[in-house]
Amino acid sequence: MRIIGSRRYRMVSESPPPGCPDCAVYMSERVADRIARDSADALSNGMEAMGLLYGHPFMHGERKLLRIEGAAALPTVGTMHHVIVDRKGDVDDSWAGAGSVVVGWYHSHTGVGSFMSETDIRTHRRWFGETLSVAAVYDAVEKDLGIYMLVGGVAKRADFAVYRRSPTSP
Ligand SMILES: [Zn+2]
Repeated sequence: MRIIGSRRYRMVSESPPPGCPDCAVYMSERVADRIARDSADALSNGMEAMGLLYGHPFMHGERKLLRIEGAAALPTVGTMHHVIVDRKGDVDDSWAGAGSVVVGWYHSHTGVGSFMSETDIRTHRRWFGETLSVAAVYDAVEKDLGIYMLVGGVAKRADFAVYRRSPTSP
């Protein structure tokens, strides 16, 4: 598994998916669908879902942008309001796609809305400290997906676009 900060990662220049020229983050529709499905499944078991997001940062002119193109659920144990990763479980990241790196994580909330709690911010800072690292928080009851980045230690909801996979985009 490669994390964004890996020195081996080379940022290439490419065009973002169309439709949102000001967005910093582009999420593939199947990732958005997968987060919604995992979160709904977890909710029906009285749990929060949690997983890793895969993709790649890229340059467009002078701007650093991020494409999220894969997700892998993490096995979790816990209750509706507190989950931890079950280290004995397996992560199926076969879905991540060649050339992808871990660019962040997602988890679900169960009716309190999409936001970054103090615990979420601590988790994010500990594991995903890169500038372009993202946290996706999906409220499975309100069906609200937010993508957050830390700016000066504060979680900011990012403008993002969901793009549909085309034959030429990963
Ligand atoms: Zn949370």
